[in-house]
Amino acid sequence: MYAPILEMHLDKVTENARRLCDFCRERGVELSFVTKGVSGLPEVIRAVRAGGITSFADSRMKNIIAAKTAMPDLRYLLIRIPALDEVEEVVRWADWSLQSQIETIRAISDAALRQGKVHPIVLMIDVGDLREGVFGMDQLEEIVPQIKACRGVELMGLGTNVGCYGSILPSVANTEILVKLRDHLNEKYGFHITTLSGGATCVLKLLEEGTLPAGINHLRVGEAILYGEDTDGNRFLEGYHTDAFLFKAQVVELKRKPSVPIGERGRDCLGNTPEYPDRGVRLRAICAAGKQDVAWAALTPLLPGAFLLGASSDHLIVDVEDCAGQVKVGDYLTFRCGYMAVLDATTSAYVQRRIVKD
Ligand SMILES: *Cc1c(COP(=O)(O)O)cnc(C)c1O
Repeated sequence: MYAPILEMHLDKVTENARRLCDFCRERGVELSFVTKGVSGLPEVIRAVRAGGITSFADSRMKNIIAAKTAMPDLRYLLIRIPALDEVEEVVRWADWSLQSQIETIRAISDAALRQGKVHPIVLMIDVGDLREGVFGMDQLEEIVPQIKACRGVELMGLGTNVGCYGSILPSVANTEILVKLRDHLNEKYGFHITTLSGGATCVLKLLEEGTLPAGINHLRVGEAILYGEDTDGNRFLEGYHTDAFLFKAQVVELKRKPSVPIGERGRDCLGNTPEYPDRGVRLRAICAAGKQDVAWAALTPLLPGAFLLGASSDHLIVDVEDCAGQVKVGDYLTFRCGYMAVLDATTSAYVQRRIVKD
């Protein structure tokens, strides 16, 4: 049966992992590889481990449980603050977790005591991105004594995250907050906070520039290792493979058509009202893959001159006018994948996964 293909070049992933692992180790920073971008695929985890990384993180308990069932010795951090309905599994399967809500921390503590454990937690501090985390000193001073009273958890770290909801970039100022709060909490409440988890791929920029505040000693990184890219910083990382993941779909129609749709305008199949620039009559290839398979906006055709015009649930439309007769019906067009493309392709039931060792 036909299926579009996600090709994973795992030797490239191993090389990226080794490069980043060495880079961070030399600078006193521990790395957790974030596996959510590949739905926790064991093959990818093994490739990253071969590069020297020994700590892993995921947002989904389902991925963590599957990975640890396949490889019981993996050390895993849960990076989405948990739902109350998953605290038992969190304590059972995750070695440590990010937290921000006292109701949940209490439930985690109770579950840990029931399971005869003490569960280490990293308290998230919101430094302005406005996703998860304690916001401001009042909220901090309110939650911290309550955490201290939870005998089943150990506050081992502080963490922060930017570059997500609020598209805020990491800076010396907003990462330094963690260092100051660590000192404050250790002094005032007698905690032994040691881990400061400064963020994701986008924080590597500060580490490269040598400006990451001393004390930030942990990062949670997916994108740099998998794609050699820093989307928030809008850059590719020098010396890293950026084409470890390729998406391939077969051409099912090849025809010249005008670039502007004809007739009265409504909405497109997603409810949007897009603009269609007039480039005249162009050769268009339709590939048999769509939004149900892959996040098309994170795909880039490898064929020089080709560009993606758009997609529907089942079709990718590619302008191949400038590819001088290189495309025919039945060919597979190849696309470089960014983060969201692989996230979707490893989640879709319609995509065939193929491991390649170069
Ligand atoms: C997804 C995620 C990361 C990893 O982000 P990358 O950009 O892939 O490095 C780190 N921390 C948290 C909390 C996340 O949700």
